[in-house]
Amino acid sequence: MTQAFVGLGSNIEAPAIQLRRACEALAALANTGLIAVSSVYESLPMGPRDQPPFLNACAQIDTTSDPATLLTDLLGIETAMGRVRKRHWGERCIDLDLLFYGNTSVQSERLTLPHPGLYQRDFVLKPLGDLLGNEYLMPNGVDIGTLLRKCSTHGLRLSAVQLHRGEIPGNPL
Ligand code: ADP
Ligand code: MG
Repeated sequence: MTQAFVGLGSNIEAPAIQLRRACEALAALANTGLIAVSSVYESLPMGPRDQPPFLNACAQIDTTSDPATLLTDLLGIETAMGRVRKRHWGERCIDLDLLFYGNTSVQSERLTLPHPGLYQRDFVLKPLGDLLGNEYLMPNGVDIGTLLRKCSTHGLRLSAVQLHRGEIPGNPL
């Protein structure tokens, strides 16, 4: 069993509902359990500015699937949810990125682990900090708090949207 983290993002077609549906799909994956879901954050788009802000969150999963299979599962959820790729870093109803998978490194044509943007993006690091604590050492050996202080900012704001039941951030659905 390996602990892995998935970054969720959506900025069209009712983003809060999209994130909820994606969490349900993660929970339903074979060989994978949904352990916890972070708070939800609103962020400004990284790519073209003429698109709505994003809602972002992170999910913690336990899995016995290998990284390539897990990526196929995540891309399958995106497709099943009707994701259409229009332009680079453009609007999407759902984006599921495999952020890291234990301490595994992968460098292949279809999969890079840890995710190339992991250490630079506040909309990924902040929700990860909710789940792991800002003292947690990432696969590169640097704690989340330090990475957050150094990373680029995307106007991050805590959203009122909740994906987990109850008051405790990180509660499973
Ligand atoms: P982005 O998330 O950068 O906007 P896409 O969601 O369109 O881009 O993904 C493009 C491709 O990135 C996917 O088809 C996938 O093969 C590849 N990819 C490489 N590494 C990862 C990863 N760690 N998580 C998700 N996708 C990845
Ligand atoms: Mg993606």
